[in-house]
Amino acid sequence: LTQLYAPLNFLGFIYREIKNSLSDMERMFGLMDEQQEIKDDKGAIALNTRHAEIVFQDVCFSYESERQILHKVSFRVGAGETVAVVGTSGAGKSTLSRLLFRFYDVSSGSILINGRDIRSYTQLSLRQHIGIVPQDTVLFNNSIYYNIAYGRPSATHDEVIEAAKSASIHQFVSSLPEGYESQVGERGLKLSGGEKQRVAIARTILKDPPILVLDEATSALDTRTERKIQDELFQIAKNRTTLIIAHRLSTIVDADRIIVMDQGKIMEQGTHSELLEKNAIYARMWAMQFQASEIVEASEP
Ligand code: ATP
Repeated sequence: LTQLYAPLNFLGFIYREIKNSLSDMERMFGLMDEQQEIKDDKGAIALNTRHAEIVFQDVCFSYESERQILHKVSFRVGAGETVAVVGTSGAGKSTLSRLLFRFYDVSSGSILINGRDIRSYTQLSLRQHIGIVPQDTVLFNNSIYYNIAYGRPSATHDEVIEAAKSASIHQFVSSLPEGYESQVGERGLKLSGGEKQRVAIARTILKDPPILVLDEATSALDTRTERKIQDELFQIAKNRTTLIIAHRLSTIVDADRIIVMDQGKIMEQGTHSELLEKNAIYARMWAMQFQASEIVEASEP
């Protein structure tokens, strides 16, 4: 018995050690839970709609407590409408989309979808309803096929190809030696800005979300590619509630409403012609960009 005692005692020691470290891990995870800023409400319900109306109501927000980024921002995007946000760099345009997607929660005010605060929906269902085509798409280190199918992992092979065709990337992919199995991302084939954006568009077409956020690229693609991508984006924006964060005013002339932001505040809102008539900030931006684009177009072959 004494011969058994020492090993058992040792096992007991190991057991206590493991148990301690497990409870440390539990504590650590507990802590992580506490630090996780965005949580589902206890009574959160699933958002389930094809017609989403978005309302920002007196939204204030700061990433860090000492600097307020958004100041009482209020606007509405009716179901199926397209609203564009323009403004100076750093005005807070992309922040609006981050708040809508609930990467962060508002400091005060609220964001409503179909009359309910987005904090009362489960995050999963909220995010399933929103498709984002970002400024700069980061691709996974995987095949092009995987990168498109990620939009809806349950999609069939044919659906993935269809989405690629609609996003005008199918021809390019087919011309690659390994086709859809070509590896992309940091360690794979480097795609151009326009090609990456098309992969993101194909992914979004496949996801088929009722809400679309288009964060227009700041980095200039050539004007012709830009126009083609814009046309494709407008096609997928049809019948969806769309928020465009725009850098080029020429692309948003037909938006249902244009919001002009500066330093976290909405300065003006209206249609393109209303804002031109107002002859204030937007009208000045338009005049400046119009002149600039005339110069670029004149210099293009
Ligand atoms: P751009 O047109 O240049 O893309 P924007 O209008 O989209 O600009 P935002 O990206 O919304 O601007 O940023 C608004 C402000 O918030 C900026 O001053 C930016 O420095 C700040 N900001 C953005 N992200 C963070 C972050 N994660 N932490 C702290 N500050 C941030």
